[in-house]
Amino acid sequence: RQMEQGFWQGAETVPGARLPAPPLVRIEHLVKRYGNHVVLDDVGFDLDSGEVVAIIGPSGSGKSTLLRCVNQLERPDGGCITVGGQRFEGGRDHPRAELDKLRRTVGMVFQSFNLFPHLTVLRNVSIAQERVAGRSRKEADERSMQLLARVGLAEKANQYPSRCSGGQQQRIAIARALALDPQLMLFDEPTSALDPELGLEVLAVMRELAESGMTMIVVTHEMRFAENVSDRVVVMADGKIIETGPSAEVMRNPQAERTNRFLHAVR
Ligand code: ADP
Ligand code: MG
Repeated sequence: RQMEQGFWQGAETVPGARLPAPPLVRIEHLVKRYGNHVVLDDVGFDLDSGEVVAIIGPSGSGKSTLLRCVNQLERPDGGCITVGGQRFEGGRDHPRAELDKLRRTVGMVFQSFNLFPHLTVLRNVSIAQERVAGRSRKEADERSMQLLARVGLAEKANQYPSRCSGGQQQRIAIARALALDPQLMLFDEPTSALDPELGLEVLAVMRELAESGMTMIVVTHEMRFAENVSDRVVVMADGKIIETGPSAEVMRNPQAERTNRFLHAVR
């Protein structure tokens, strides 16, 4: 039963009326400093269940730091992040159990896939299900096979990651993140380390995930993904949100001069 929730959970909530529920993610007045360097400066936005937001902006603008704050890999210095009703105030430590719960709610995919090289593809996807979600090996392997099929890699289950292309490895990393049935998926430039062609197969999986109703925050340099897949775009520069709005509007008719310059530079 537990296995049937999660991945498809979002899909059931999409059609028709959206309940006036609180947003799945609320980021308020977020501040993060490294020493005297203010890396996130009063950042805030909401994300409803089923929404996909793309975060774009120049290198060093704080995009990765923002994602890492959302699942508390970094501790914010100020402001507040609420995910699925769990509230995390900046500037204080949180009990281990709360962090563990948060990290089961939030799946993350990085630029580097970081698969375990000594484990088969199947074990890479199933191991956390046993250790973190308490599933039996049989349950975990079954769920893993479903997810590998979902990302088009069922036939790789018994191979080792080294036998897979970069695009395949990233799709395995996505399957692994989905295996704990997250309510929110974070992606930090998941295609930047890949050749364009291999990036496309990863983007196709992400697009399908978005269409299935998954809530996603995607840091990306893929402007077509931002324009065509995400519902909203958040533009960051120097630790601030300089512009946000519906994707088509921001991408086609940016209001901030800084956004315009950025889009010209990357296109
Ligand atoms: P982006 O992902 O938009 O390229 P980052 O969030 O990685 O930006 O970085 C934002 C700023 O924070 C950069 O100036 C970066 O050098 C700095 N920074 C990031 N991580 C650390 C860290 N662990 N210690 C000190 N400075 C950091
Ligand atoms: Mg980054």
